[in-house]
Amino acid sequence: MTQSTKNVRTRFAPSPTGSLHVGGARTAIFNWLFARHFNGEFILRIEDTDQERSTDESITEILDAMQWLGLDWDGKPFRQSERLNIYQEHANKLLESGHAYKCYVTPEELEEKRKEAQSKGEVLRYKREWAKLNESPNNPYAIRLQTPDEGTIEVQDLLRGTITFDASEVDDFIILKRDGFPTYNFAVVVDDATMDITHIIRGDDHLINTPRQVLIYNALSYDIPQIAHVSMILGADNKRLSKRHGATSVVAFKDQGYLPEAIINFLSRLGWSYGNQEIFTKEELIEKFTLDNVGKSAAVFNEEKLEWLNSWYIKNEPPEKIGELVLPLLKEKGLNIDIDEKLIKIIKELSQRAKNLLDIADTIDYFYADGIEFEEKAKSKFLTPAIKPVLSDITERLSDLSEFNTDEMHKVFDQVMEERELKLGKIAQPIRVSLTGGTVSPGIFEVMDILGKDEVLKRLNKALDVIPNEDVSN
Ligand code: GLU
Repeated sequence: MTQSTKNVRTRFAPSPTGSLHVGGARTAIFNWLFARHFNGEFILRIEDTDQERSTDESITEILDAMQWLGLDWDGKPFRQSERLNIYQEHANKLLESGHAYKCYVTPEELEEKRKEAQSKGEVLRYKREWAKLNESPNNPYAIRLQTPDEGTIEVQDLLRGTITFDASEVDDFIILKRDGFPTYNFAVVVDDATMDITHIIRGDDHLINTPRQVLIYNALSYDIPQIAHVSMILGADNKRLSKRHGATSVVAFKDQGYLPEAIINFLSRLGWSYGNQEIFTKEELIEKFTLDNVGKSAAVFNEEKLEWLNSWYIKNEPPEKIGELVLPLLKEKGLNIDIDEKLIKIIKELSQRAKNLLDIADTIDYFYADGIEFEEKAKSKFLTPAIKPVLSDITERLSDLSEFNTDEMHKVFDQVMEERELKLGKIAQPIRVSLTGGTVSPGIFEVMDILGKDEVLKRLNKALDVIPNEDVSN
């Protein structure tokens, strides 16, 4: 693979017709990594020439998602709708050089011709002589590129080599519409050329556009950037990833408690690999990413792997950072707390098993509850009259401790187990239910350590209060 990498400049060029989806995010990540790897520039271009489908809301969403992922771009984002004069100038240049011509046929006439062709079972092919229909200085016109009638158009792809297209399959297409707006292919080429883009990395769904773009480059005498078409992302069923497969927008993953580090790591690995390594920091990705290790086959979006990566990052990022991310979720639930020693201890425990931030936010309540509620099933199974004397014994001994730390707690439990010939398995759940209200929590010693002596005794005593005494009458 020959890659010239002088002054690398890549771009991400989303059409703002919805939120940023994982496929687009992967494209953005590849372009960003490639630029950062070669100390080049990464620019952001909003392709909003489809006025009906483009929205400002979508632009905000895409920019927010990029920022959340940490994909910083250089300079101000470009907006195609603010560059109409540049496209018009280029189209005029092509009119002057004879590479393009004015076409007066109306969209309605074309539609009629399309229907006619369809009724004969044919696909409409544009005929050059239709350009003259309605020709008059006052009539509106579109500008079409004059394309070769025969021969081949070659596309050089960094991943796939030379791909040859039959020129006869490309008819004279519109570059500038009657309303003065460029078509997608024209705007992309004018922009990539005038923005000095050196490398284009995009999904292979764009491969069908590339021969048209090559013709435009040639007509304008611009150099063609190096292009890599990356295979699309597939769902678990090997069909192209779409909304049918569940959440696919970056913001949906954010809302589900995913960390940007996990998403970046996961998406970078869709189509790119580096030996068997699975975990990559951003810095490592920048250091290691080139197109050499981008494969040709389609990558499958394995949600379990994403979940695994997310839990890895939750466990391994500093608890202070996880705390900062969890705080707003707790606020939403009405729990207004600050990052303090207690929260950090809790995060350290809960992050061992959390798959996402919601897992932490949703299971933290009992640490802060003033009077916990017992889950009915847990209560009837574990807070039984038979265990009451044991709980009471433990409560008393814990209350006698002058140092309330896990070593001392262990000693208390060891003594009680030995004297009563009980295993920890018999005692742990009743204690857990007493302290947390339920049957799932970090280790009971860790929970006790976090709650502190007063709160532990308060909760154990409350549990003792609700357990009926053993019926000794028979
Ligand atoms: N605006 C196009 C899209 O969102 C991308 C164009 C390109 O990368 O060439 O699919």
